[in-house]
Amino acid sequence: MASRTLPDDRGRFGDFGGRFVPETLMTALGELERAFAEAQADASFREELDGLLHNYAGRPTPLYFAENLSRKLSGAGADEPPSLRIYLKREDLAHTGAHKINNALGQGLLARRLGKRRIIAETGAGQHGVATATVCAMLGLECIVYMGAVDVQRQALNVFRMKLLGAEVRVVESGSRTLKDAINEAIRDWVTNVTTTHYLLGSAVGPHPYPLMVREFQSVIGSEAREQLLAAEGRLPDYALACVGGGSNAIGLFHPFYDDESVRFIGVEAAGEGLSTGRRAASLSAGRPGVLHGAYSYLLQDEAGQVEETHSISAGLDYPGVGPELSFYKESGRAQFAAVTDDEALDGFRLLSETEGIIPALEPAHALAYLAKLAPDIAKDSLVLVCLSGRGDKDMETVAQALGVDLV
Ligand SMILES: *Cc1c(COP(=O)(O)O)cnc(C)c1O
Repeated sequence: MASRTLPDDRGRFGDFGGRFVPETLMTALGELERAFAEAQADASFREELDGLLHNYAGRPTPLYFAENLSRKLSGAGADEPPSLRIYLKREDLAHTGAHKINNALGQGLLARRLGKRRIIAETGAGQHGVATATVCAMLGLECIVYMGAVDVQRQALNVFRMKLLGAEVRVVESGSRTLKDAINEAIRDWVTNVTTTHYLLGSAVGPHPYPLMVREFQSVIGSEAREQLLAAEGRLPDYALACVGGGSNAIGLFHPFYDDESVRFIGVEAAGEGLSTGRRAASLSAGRPGVLHGAYSYLLQDEAGQVEETHSISAGLDYPGVGPELSFYKESGRAQFAAVTDDEALDGFRLLSETEGIIPALEPAHALAYLAKLAPDIAKDSLVLVCLSGRGDKDMETVAQALGVDLV
């Protein structure tokens, strides 16, 4: 691995990252950092994780050539070959329906290795909560999931799933009652119970070593896609696109291509009702650096440095911060970031459903919507890789409501 893709000894990617936490957590973070480094060097850990990723989570996930979508976005006729070739990395087909399981399995095994049998997690859309509850059921660990009251409302199905899997769901009524507040509560719990508890954080955010660790567990996405695309097309993609909430599916897709400078990375954030409206969740596009949840990174904040309330139609993108490594990618120019609105994301959602018979989650629908906007400006014969981070089952009610129709 190239050294410039490792954080420095203060846990920083360039200026971003670090460890801004109460003193009581410093020991636990140090312990976690060591345990993770040891696990990475331990062939038996790797073997067990790879076995579970394969037999339990269904990896490798397919890489699908989306020919209809490619034709549509190329403006090509039915008999013409499309000038763009779009491939979807099918994380929607992983167990529990999103990429979250990759990280949950990795950290679950790590927690067991640390002798910590009580697991806490936060969740927004509920996908990370479900993945964590799933892994805890399988590994026999206690599981408590913090979830904002607003998200509990809009993702009721996932709340029920977590309960069926044996997890306790604690509803968070503070602040904006969404993901940010759920993370605050989880951190509070961790401070109190740190000796018995592992905090299974769900995105590439938080204090060091979480952003590094989550990136490594999610890099299976990009590593597989790289190999699969080379086998299918004999070359690397020109573009790699992913949606960005905290940034874990994006960094997991991008990282294995970091040194392939011809591969352009595009992260797509949630512009909500519009970037200038204040009702959005695009930290890299509309924020500036500050400290949230233990790390220095791009952040939506007001003049006084207060964290702003966010909005996105997609609960999984509804977060005012972003992982430090993507902030570093932005500053260094390695990646570009764009944002699309709720309405555009709904168009992306319908586009994939109708052209390919794949109903995406609203999160990756943002990446698809941006690709549709970008397509006319992309050079002919470009190869495009999109991370389809999850499936749309969880979003049926939200979409029906947004379209103003009844579910049945
Ligand atoms: C959670 C989630 C996201 C956003 O999280 P990242 O850490 O930015 O990947 C994106 N897509 C799906 C399907 C999710 O469940």
